[in-house]
Amino acid sequence: MMTAYEIVVGLEVHVELATASKIFCGCTTEFGGDPNTHVCPVCTGMPGVLPVLNKKVLEFAIRVGLALDCAITRYGKFDRKNYFYPDLPKAYQTSQLFLPICTEGFLDIATESGSKRIGIHEIHMEEDAGKLIHDPWEDCTHIDYNRCGVPLIEIVSEPDFRSGEEVVAYLERLRELLLYIGVSDCKMQEGSMRADINLSVRPVGSQQLGTRTEMKNMNSLKMIQRAVECEAQRQIELIEAGGKVVQETRRWDDNKDSSFAMRSKENAQDYRYFPEPDLLPMSISEEWIAEIAREMPEFAHQKRERFISQFEISDYDAQMITSEKPLCDLFERLVQETSQPKESANLIIGEIMRLLNKTGQTAEELRIDPLKLAKAMEAVLGGFINRNGYKEVIEAVFTTDADPLVYIQQKGLAMIGDEEQIKTAVMQALELNPKSVEDYAAGKEKAFGFLVGQIMRVLKGKADPQIVNRILKEMLP
Ligand SMILES: [Zn+2]
Repeated sequence: MMTAYEIVVGLEVHVELATASKIFCGCTTEFGGDPNTHVCPVCTGMPGVLPVLNKKVLEFAIRVGLALDCAITRYGKFDRKNYFYPDLPKAYQTSQLFLPICTEGFLDIATESGSKRIGIHEIHMEEDAGKLIHDPWEDCTHIDYNRCGVPLIEIVSEPDFRSGEEVVAYLERLRELLLYIGVSDCKMQEGSMRADINLSVRPVGSQQLGTRTEMKNMNSLKMIQRAVECEAQRQIELIEAGGKVVQETRRWDDNKDSSFAMRSKENAQDYRYFPEPDLLPMSISEEWIAEIAREMPEFAHQKRERFISQFEISDYDAQMITSEKPLCDLFERLVQETSQPKESANLIIGEIMRLLNKTGQTAEELRIDPLKLAKAMEAVLGGFINRNGYKEVIEAVFTTDADPLVYIQQKGLAMIGDEEQIKTAVMQALELNPKSVEDYAAGKEKAFGFLVGQIMRVLKGKADPQIVNRILKEMLP
């Protein structure tokens, strides 16, 4: 019988923090620049220099920890991680091994098979390394130290992922969250968010972890999903053929759709850690954590719950609106202007999302005047325009920032509010359709709808249906 296997993946996600200066010195963190121009004696590891922790880095790390429901340590410190690093002039990386800033959190993700909680093992702070540029012409390697000392956090998950789809859902959700709390620009193509994938396979039902391989510095979601699937397949085929998976670092080659071995190593014992003597231990007060928590924006799930309880909109509507922060802001402004939560939700989920889709705009690019939308909504709710006219007005506001009232007038969308004119149309319809009048008198409700349709045709759909209904009822024998 064929053995069924399951994938076990844990992720280490490196995120560059969007502070203005580096983690232990005042150099700029700006991307690019001529090689070795964003450097100083501290970040290039000159002898005798003393690093000083950038408080903003600590604050950002705590923010991320709070967003991921982690415990925040009250006492933290840094360690030196010694290894041969060609891209770190100090030959060690200042990182946290023993007392990471955050531990034991989680992030809920949604996949096609439902929602799932991914455990966060820990978050630690560290410095980035420089960049090696291999020059095949001169057969030598140049080093740009501009990235040295750019602050990073490493978010280490539990090995909770069982598919490439889950990995991608997690990275998308994490990116959204980090952008939302403003700690990173999360530009994957510039390397400000990158993932190391630890992957093993095991027979379904087994509790034991298989031997894992690591694929480092993956910075494209599409690539990550394929890499997970292909590497799992490679390991399964290897085991099925009687071979053994070797613990090693592999590099994913997107052009060849396969990974290849880089080096075998990478256990904590391969590094030599010891406490960083130049940085004071951190003592983090309860008050400061509370202050950071207070300044955090409201999260999507909190907004969702609040929208449901405060505005009494449906779970589905709340879900749709809170999928994007700009839509939440627009919704709250609309409700504030119109006091019509349900109608505002419908407008956003119906027309606004449709128009975004149609024009290929993202919610972030949405520039629409909530006051104008509110005016259009008042017009339809007041029976001044009908639903079709309303849609047209919204589209005009969306695409050309039109003034709703001017637009309604120019396009002749205003409804007939004159009761005399409606009465004339009703009379005409009754005269022309005696059969329907009879049917209605005999209790056939359908006939009423038919008559309304006839009246509306005469009025070119520009009468308030409520007024038409009322007058028709009054005039029917
Ligand atoms: Zn520096």
